Amino acid sequence: MIEVAEARSFVLERLTPLESVRVTLDDGLGCVASEPIVATEPVPGFRNSSMDGYAVLASDTAGGPVRLRVVGTVLAGDVPDRRLEAGEAMRIMTGAPMPEGADAVCMIEETIDDPDDHTVLISRILDERHYVRLPGDDVAVGQVLVDTGSVVTGARMGVLASQGLSSVSVHRRPRVGVLSTGDELSGSGGKLARGKIRDSNRPMLLALLRESGCTPIDLGIAGDDIEEITAVVRRGVDECDAVIATGGVSVGDVDFVKSVLSDICEGTARWMQVAMRPGKPFAFGTAGNGSTPIFGLPGNPVSTRVSFEMFVRPALRRLAGHRILERTTINMVLDCPMPRKPDGKLHLVHVDSRIHPDGRMHIESASRHGSHLMSAVASANALAMIPDGGGLEPGDIVRTLVLCDETND
Ligand code: AMP
Ligand code: MG
Repeated sequence: MIEVAEARSFVLERLTPLESVRVTLDDGLGCVASEPIVATEPVPGFRNSSMDGYAVLASDTAGGPVRLRVVGTVLAGDVPDRRLEAGEAMRIMTGAPMPEGADAVCMIEETIDDPDDHTVLISRILDERHYVRLPGDDVAVGQVLVDTGSVVTGARMGVLASQGLSSVSVHRRPRVGVLSTGDELSGSGGKLARGKIRDSNRPMLLALLRESGCTPIDLGIAGDDIEEITAVVRRGVDECDAVIATGGVSVGDVDFVKSVLSDICEGTARWMQVAMRPGKPFAFGTAGNGSTPIFGLPGNPVSTRVSFEMFVRPALRRLAGHRILERTTINMVLDCPMPRKPDGKLHLVHVDSRIHPDGRMHIESASRHGSHLMSAVASANALAMIPDGGGLEPGDIVRTLVLCDETND
């Protein structure tokens, strides 16, 4: 058996980010910038008001409450039609350009207007620039808005849009092919024939890939047959940036995926027995001149999920150009006993994590565990890493990988 860290390094060392492409802002959501995006326009582009109120000369208010002559109104999108002189005020709305001469805004709530004689009482002393936004306050020309390696998030898309940018250079979103292997698998609805089961890994992985920002490609089901598996994996290598196969990597009589990998992967394939539970058997190699990783995951759905989290997701994040490959991992407080026996393995246990009134994250184990008991762990939002040994007690601190930062109730 090898340690999880060794298996993970074996995978990650063989991968580099995919090439860069220019995509629309919309398509770039969740992708990683492949070059710095530098501001060419100041934001805001002109002096404007940050409040609904009156534009004034601050010096007019120095002596306390003062009545000023209202000489017009400027709305957002307008251009002020005149300069403001001493003794004058202009009604102004949020985002409207400041008139020349004006250097402060008094918010409406601190004024009393008299529409009959076109005057307004400014009831407080204002400093220059009070409620005035200056050009470049938000974004200065030359400022790096999104650096190489940073993720294009929704909020950053707002910043890029404020520059008039409509496209970004990002690492290509990995296209990832998924196939299930096993003579027992049925991919369609309807009544199951005797001995058959429904293929649940492929839909799960296709969805997990989408959640992880990849483009999933459905490669279907292959039976336990070397030629059939070889043909589907080769098609995946031709069409995709990575391929995930489930089933057939253990020591069973028809576990052919590992031999298919050693055949296709030109000497780079490795079949590993990883010191973790679930997910001990794991096969990995690269094909297509070494550029396309192929992952062979065990077929039990809980094992598939855990192996995906431990090996596949970090690897795909490397292809996508992410700097941080790992999920957030936090020390959490165990609220239940976590019995286990020493077996030389790291146990990865699906748990429900919650913020506790004491301010710390607490975890409770899912009700039942077994590598085939997917429904029992499907709503868990974290994976607790229980080190080798005799188990843990309530109150113990456990390193826990956050799968989802919300509860899945
Ligand atoms: P294997 O890794 O091929 O030995 O399969 C281990 C267990 O996982 C067996 O009980 C399989 O029937 C089951 N299994 C394999 N592939 C799938 C799949 N795609 N969906 C659901 N269960 C599967
Ligand atoms: Mg099988």
